[in-house]
Amino acid sequence: MVDLTKKCECGRPAILYRKYEGRYYCDHCLSKQVERNFKKTIGINRLIEKNDRICVALSGGKDSSSLLYLFWKVFRNRKDLKIFALIIDEGIGNYRKKCIKKAEKLCENLNIKLHKTSFKKEIGVTIDKIAKKTTKTCTYCGVFKRYLLNKKARELGATKLAVAHNLDDEAQAIIMNVIRCDLKRFERLGPMPGIIRDKKFVPRVKPLRNIHEKELYLYATVHKLPFSKRHCPYSKDNVRRDVRTLINNIEEKYPGTKIQIVKFYDAIIKKIKIKKKGKLKHCKECGEPTNQEICKTCELLKRI
Ligand SMILES: [Zn+2]
Ligand SMILES: [Zn+2]
Repeated sequence: MVDLTKKCECGRPAILYRKYEGRYYCDHCLSKQVERNFKKTIGINRLIEKNDRICVALSGGKDSSSLLYLFWKVFRNRKDLKIFALIIDEGIGNYRKKCIKKAEKLCENLNIKLHKTSFKKEIGVTIDKIAKKTTKTCTYCGVFKRYLLNKKARELGATKLAVAHNLDDEAQAIIMNVIRCDLKRFERLGPMPGIIRDKKFVPRVKPLRNIHEKELYLYATVHKLPFSKRHCPYSKDNVRRDVRTLINNIEEKYPGTKIQIVKFYDAIIKKIKIKKKGKLKHCKECGEPTNQEICKTCELLKRI
């Protein structure tokens, strides 16, 4: 917790202490920092181009709510860009329904069109049903979500799909792939993963990947964005949770660790990226883009 008697350099009361900088930030200065970071990540990596139609993947949580708000704040006067939002109901009891309410409120406030879809409607099964048949609920959910986000974004005419991965998520993903020795997935991280061009694949962009999770929480709170604090009832002990705890502990002792992990990734990925720009195939069952004969979604659906 931040010492409430401390002041920001501008004189206002502090709400955040950045240990790796040794500096206190007030609500205004933190907001400016977050917005600058968002613009910088987009600028350096050329995540947004002229005439883009940006589909923001919303979940109703703090990260994606901040992401949509940032797009609105920074780009709302750009007449050539179109911004809209998409939320997926996985069919997890009432959990996502409550998140959807928050997302609806946010989109209403910002006057942004919200599109909704569900696993039940598009894939024919809910996560509640999947959970009764397998222990790998999160694997199914993750695969289905990527599949459906791409499919829906494309159908809505999006040229970019913006996802809300923050610095913590990115650092965790890097370390997890090291632990699993998964070079294929490791290569697919970064600000715009999967730059292989395919008419059925909407490029995914991650403008929040250099912003700490804690700062996004404060940002969403400062701007009074409607967001849900609930966690998915199926999330349980897994590798990611252990890696998160591990990185948070190291960050606490050696401030700046998360930034360093992501910087290291960015430096090394340029050297290891295999030059061949492979083409994507299209799934024999459903026609969606994949690098196998049959996509992961169709493969998983066969197993249950
Ligand atoms: Zn300040
Ligand atoms: Zn398929």
